[in-house]
Amino acid sequence: LTRVRFAPSPTGYLHLGGLRTALYNYLFAKSRGGTFVLRIEDTDQTRKVEGSIGALMKDLDWAGIECHEGPKQGGNFGPYIQSERLQIYQEHINTLLNNGSAYKCFCTERRLNLIRRDAVRSQRIPKYDNRCRTLSADDIKEKINSGIPYCIRFKLSSDCSSFEDLIFGGIAYDVSLNEGDPVLMKSDGFPTYHFANVVDDHLMNVTHVLRGVEWQISTTKHLLLYKAFGWTPPQFGHLPLIVNSDGTKLSKRQSDVKVEDYRIKGIYPLALVNYITLSGGGFEHVPGEGVRLKTMDELAQEFQIDRISSHPSRLNPDLLEECNRLEIKRQLQSPDQAQLVARLQELIKQTYPEKSLNISKEHVESVLNWAVARITKIEDLVSPAFGFLWILPNRKPEDVNAELLRKLVDHLASLDQFEEITLKHSLKEFSSDNDVKFPALMKMLRSVLSGLSEGPSVAEMMQLLGKNQSLDRIKAVVR
Ligand code: GLU
Repeated sequence: LTRVRFAPSPTGYLHLGGLRTALYNYLFAKSRGGTFVLRIEDTDQTRKVEGSIGALMKDLDWAGIECHEGPKQGGNFGPYIQSERLQIYQEHINTLLNNGSAYKCFCTERRLNLIRRDAVRSQRIPKYDNRCRTLSADDIKEKINSGIPYCIRFKLSSDCSSFEDLIFGGIAYDVSLNEGDPVLMKSDGFPTYHFANVVDDHLMNVTHVLRGVEWQISTTKHLLLYKAFGWTPPQFGHLPLIVNSDGTKLSKRQSDVKVEDYRIKGIYPLALVNYITLSGGGFEHVPGEGVRLKTMDELAQEFQIDRISSHPSRLNPDLLEECNRLEIKRQLQSPDQAQLVARLQELIKQTYPEKSLNISKEHVESVLNWAVARITKIEDLVSPAFGFLWILPNRKPEDVNAELLRKLVDHLASLDQFEEITLKHSLKEFSSDNDVKFPALMKMLRSVLSGLSEGPSVAEMMQLLGKNQSLDRIKAVVR
C-alpha cells in the first residue's frame, strides 16, 4: 500500500514550492489508492513561527488537498507533530548508540567555531573532524560525570553512496567525503531534521518520499541511517526547482510565491493547482492543444511520476491567468454559479458602497457571462474600467449634441431587442440617417454611458447596462 507524506517545517507561510510538493504527494497517493500523511517537522524550535501550522493547514484545505492522516485528522501512526514525539526519538537514538552507529560528542561550540574559522581561512568547506568518535569509554564517563553537555552524532561511511532517484535517475554522492559526522540529537534533547525525518518515515510506513530537490544531497545520509537501523528505506524522488519564466530563481520575498497571496488576489484553488501541474510536468499534456482545466480526480488519474521532468519547472504566469479564466467559466456553468454571483455582488457593494445600481442576480450573472472571455479574476469587474456597470459615470462636462441624442433616445426606445449585434447595426443606421460620423457618435455615446474614453464597444456597453439604464443615462445629459 502506498503511503506518502508532506513534511513541512512550520517556519512561515506555505509557498508555491511547498504547495507543489504537497500536491504531487497527494496526487500520487490518490492515483494509487494510497494514503497522504501530513507531518509537522518542528524540531528546530528556534525557527518556529507562531500560527504557521494553522495557516498551512488552511492553505492545504483551500487548495483541495485532503490529508488522510495528520495533526487534525489523527491516524494510527501519530502523533503527527514531531515535538510531540521526543520520547520516540530518545528510544531510537539509544538503538544507534548501542549498536555503535552513533556516539556522544562533547565538542564545545567554541571548538566547532574554530574548525569553521580555519576552514573558511584556508577556503575549505567546514567539516567536523569527527574527533569524539574515538573517545574511550572512560573519557566519556568522566565527561558525563563532570556535567559537560553533549550531542549525539552519526558515524558516516561510504556504504551507501548512490541511489536511484525516481525522477533524476542514478545519483551518486558519498556524503562521508563531503561532510563531518552529522548531529542526530542536540544537547537539549531535540532531534535534528535528518534523524527525526528518517525515524518517522520508517515508523509511519512511508513507501515513497517525494520532496524538493534541495534534499537530494541528504538522501545518501538518510540511506545510511536506514542501514544503521537495519530498515528497508522508502523510494526517493526529488522534484526539480521551480523557476521564473526566464529561468531565474523564485525569491521568497516576491509576493508571487505565497499561496495565501494568490487566494487574496482572487485566484481560485483549482486554477492554481492546474497552473502548477502545467509547469511541473507529470501529466498528459498535448502540445498545441491549449490549456484544459482538470479536476483533482482527472489529475490523479493522469499522474505518472516518470512524466515528471528533472529540468527546472518554469512558471508561465500567462497560464495562471488562463487557468483562472477557465475556472470562472467552469463555475458559471456549474452549481457553483450562485456562489460566484454572490461573491461578485459582495465585491460590488464593497467597492462602490455609495450607490451601486442594479446588482440583481440576473444582471450580475449576465455581466459575468459576457465578461468570462475578457477577465482573469472577478475582481477585474470592479476595477475602474468596469465601474460604469455598477455606478453612474463620473462624466467630465463636455459638448454633447443634445438634439441628436434626443432623437437617438426615441430611436433606441423603439427597439424590441437590446443586444450587441442588433444595437451595433441600429446605431450605424442611425448615424447615416442623421448624417453624423459613426466614430464621432460612438465617442460621444461612450462618454455619456460610461465616462470612459475606451473599454468595451458602445453596443456591448448598452447591452450590459440594459435598455432602461442606457436610456436613462442618455436622457440625463439632454434634459
Ligand atoms: N521538513 C522538511 C522541509 O521543510 C522536509 C523535507 C523532506 O520532505 O524530507 O522541507
